[in-house]
Amino acid sequence: DNAIEIEGLTKVYRPSAGQGAKTALEDVSLTIPRGGFFALLGPNGAGKSTLINIMAGLVLKTTGTVRIWGHDIDREDRQARCAIGIVPQELNLDPFFTPRELLEVQAGMYGVPKRERRTLEILDAVGLADKADAYARTLSGGMRRRLLVAKAMVHTPPILVLDEPTAGVDIELRQQLWSYVKDLNARGTTILLTTHYLEEAETLCDRTAIIHRGTVAACDTTRNLLGRL
Ligand code: ADP
Ligand code: ADP
Repeated sequence: DNAIEIEGLTKVYRPSAGQGAKTALEDVSLTIPRGGFFALLGPNGAGKSTLINIMAGLVLKTTGTVRIWGHDIDREDRQARCAIGIVPQELNLDPFFTPRELLEVQAGMYGVPKRERRTLEILDAVGLADKADAYARTLSGGMRRRLLVAKAMVHTPPILVLDEPTAGVDIELRQQLWSYVKDLNARGTTILLTTHYLEEAETLCDRTAIIHRGTVAACDTTRNLLGRL
């Protein structure tokens, strides 16, 4: 079985505010194996966020099928949603929530029983234990990113998806974020990230799909892909 199976996925954004209809994804098919560390590599505007937002249920697809951990996002949306944790690109957080509160609310939404919650353990894993009770508005960009990673892992999904995770994160925090994500992968979590840095895919990911103008231009082991460039 695969972690994610996408077949014939097309997304056409409707025209709005003087802009015409926009085809962001066109007949995309992609298979992401379980346990892997997978990159969606492509320039800005290629369609990476659209793909992730469809998996997250934030954007409605036009046509095609998406299965997450064997669950079709149309027919088994709840199971599909529980199988995935998404770290969005935007660092939006309610400024007067603390990390502890945010994780508790998230755990409640996913029905994680109180005795099984590991709020402090999860915060500690991303280096935020000492900020558990600080208002989100006092956290730096790097801290917000790490908090959003922690939030995505609250229901211990088998798949973690990160949209441009190192955009605007300094080198030291990048290393910290990577070591945490690599550790999750080593312990069995399937990782999917989007990036426009070839180097990031090269350093971290065993497989890479190159997304270009809404289509999959190539998909192979990262090593094979780089050998061809
Ligand atoms: P990437 O994440 O690779 O930068 P996106 O998925 O954000 O790419 O965007 C793909 C294309 O779809 C771009 O041309 C973008 O302008 C367009 N697009 C993204 N979101 C919307 C939207 N809500 N409405 C209309 N067009 C959009
Ligand atoms: P750190 O010092 O932890 O590296 P910064 O505060 O310097 O984090 O921010 C890192 C990046 O995150 C910057 O590119 C910044 O623009 C972005 N950023 C910071 N706060 C926000 C926010 N509230 N919303 C969106 N982006 C943010």
